[in-house]
Amino acid sequence: MRYVFLGPPGVGKGTQAKGFAQRRGVPHVSTGDILREAVRAKTPVGQKAKAFMDAGKLVPDEVILEVVGERLAKPDCAGKGFVFDGFPRTLPQAEGLEKLLTTLGAQVDNVIAFTAPDDVVIERICGRLSCKCGETFHKTNRPPKKSGTCDHCGQALFQRADDTVDAVKVRLAAYKKETAPLVAFYKKRKRLTEVRADRGIEEIARDLEKIA
Ligand code: AMP
Repeated sequence: MRYVFLGPPGVGKGTQAKGFAQRRGVPHVSTGDILREAVRAKTPVGQKAKAFMDAGKLVPDEVILEVVGERLAKPDCAGKGFVFDGFPRTLPQAEGLEKLLTTLGAQVDNVIAFTAPDDVVIERICGRLSCKCGETFHKTNRPPKKSGTCDHCGQALFQRADDTVDAVKVRLAAYKKETAPLVAFYKKRKRLTEVRADRGIEEIARDLEKIA
């Protein structure tokens, strides 16, 4: 069960990827989460990635492929598969993933491409509240039970440095230029399923159970 969840920032793919991975019993692998943890821990990867991330720009492919190669080698991914969230994001990353999987005698089984208009995505990102534990909420669409506090672990919620209108515009432009071509890449390989994401969380989750 090797899945890729693809889509613009703020489309809700992280929320869906987490739930879907849990239901399927495979790890949820978000390169954004891995990088944020590396930045917090000030590792060499974190130091390379920080300035790109704060500006809403993509981290260089070679850094990402190194991170993903290490993650794929861990027993949970190597055994049952994975749900990749936010990776691959460029054609060289998609080709790099193919190479990594070929060495394991495997391939991506299904790529779920989430679509939503820009204004929906911007509204979702600018209202997003994040927690260090990886959980996310939204000021109006998915508020935490207690204001400012994570329902899951009780830590304080915060707004990510790149969840501002200016950074979101840069991230959306990067998505259209670098990531959108992956739709054609996976369509050609007959691996793509498109899902409209400007709907409720539960409705999308129900659709995912039918198609994937
Ligand atoms: P995300 O949490 O997926 O929105 O990622 C947050 C930021 O991490 C992005 O804006 C990029 O700077 C960086 N990032 C995460 N995944 C990738 C990737 N696959 N390729 C390049 N940069 C990435």
